[in-house]
Amino acid sequence: MIKCLKNAVILKHAYDTPVRQNLLIGDDRIIGFYPVEHVPKSDLIIDLDGMMIIPGMVQSHVHLPQVMFRGLADDLPLLSWLKEKIWPLEAAHDAESTYLSAMLGSMELIAGGVTTVCDMESVLYAEESARAIYEIGLRAVFGKVLMDYNDTPPELGGMPDTFFESTRETIDKAMELYHGWHGKADNRIRFAFMPRGILTTTEELLQELAYLSSETGCLVHTHACETRPESELVEERRGLTEIKYLHKLGLTNERLLLAHCVCVDDDDIAILRDKRIGVVSCPLTNLKLGSGIAPLEKMRIENVHLAFGSDGAPCNNNLDIFQEMKFASLLQKGTLHEPTAMNARDTFDIATRGGANVLGLDADIGTLEVGKKADLAVLDLDQHETAPLQYSVSSLVYAGNPHMVRHVMIDGRWVYRSGEFPDLDVARLREKALAAQKRVLSRYENK
Ligand SMILES: [Zn+2]
Repeated sequence: MIKCLKNAVILKHAYDTPVRQNLLIGDDRIIGFYPVEHVPKSDLIIDLDGMMIIPGMVQSHVHLPQVMFRGLADDLPLLSWLKEKIWPLEAAHDAESTYLSAMLGSMELIAGGVTTVCDMESVLYAEESARAIYEIGLRAVFGKVLMDYNDTPPELGGMPDTFFESTRETIDKAMELYHGWHGKADNRIRFAFMPRGILTTTEELLQELAYLSSETGCLVHTHACETRPESELVEERRGLTEIKYLHKLGLTNERLLLAHCVCVDDDDIAILRDKRIGVVSCPLTNLKLGSGIAPLEKMRIENVHLAFGSDGAPCNNNLDIFQEMKFASLLQKGTLHEPTAMNARDTFDIATRGGANVLGLDADIGTLEVGKKADLAVLDLDQHETAPLQYSVSSLVYAGNPHMVRHVMIDGRWVYRSGEFPDLDVARLREKALAAQKRVLSRYENK
């Protein structure tokens, strides 16, 4: 079906000047842009009455199974946060609670203008998150957490028994997901290998993943250089900084995607740049867990490939990319005493084209162009917080919020329309999620 979204103010990419025009969309791809007075022939015409169309935003590091634990693990340092709360809570998940957690998170993301995510699941039930993503219509790169290290340091001890998998077992389960899901829904769902981090994986596993990634073309996504204490533990136990260790194992290439990179030195940044490694900055999580502030402006100037992520709901506590953009920009300005750092356009570029680029999806998404996928968000900027009405990137980055998002289209299909999910019973899903959370908490408390 050919659709015409007429009378919209369209921002094709971060450095574009928004212009009022008509947008023509085929089944799933953009056909053309037309002046307002020219409404091309189409099956359906929708008048957007001056609302703004932007490229769908990309969250390149989230954990949908953790949405169920929002508000249950506050005010703790990273290693205790993992050991005492997140791992035992994740281990208490069942298939349905995992699915519902992913549904809640996907709804929050889409309603906030996000059309693509890179989602790191838990050790178990990754296929349930994939099912939720598939059903709701989100575009995603997903993968189960891989952990095969059975000699974790005391700081990380006490991992739930159900999380231990042998190297072979964890790889076999990952490959099963790859065969079952990679490329599904016309390539909307893609698989990636996701070792949790260096301290919870063996060298053998990481080397095997380097090989499998080159064979399949799938990304390897992991956490790296998130906190000083964790980085020091890696150096103590593996004899190298995290980035240099990954480099030694043959993982440093354009298919590697690292979340955080807060504690990176100049040598690390040079490797990130030269090997075209993707870096996902999660500024709010890094602040809430007291991890620090990533040298984002420095990496940007060095042409490191950057993206944003909200990480898990228990360490943020929401999945709002508008907040990530504003914090990312302001933290760099404030810490560098430089108001010109991370300007609004550069920041919005990271949230759109940058996110698409690190996921290897920039040929299809990240900007609005003829031939690219119709992944977009429609925003009503006629709000108190953006008055007087101004169509600008500044309005999005410094004054934007999810309540401005009115409609979201992914793959040419409206997944969110007039502030609602047309195909979902949201109240019923929330009710079921609350019941599932009770089950999970009771298992967690009685473990
Ligand atoms: Zn994470």
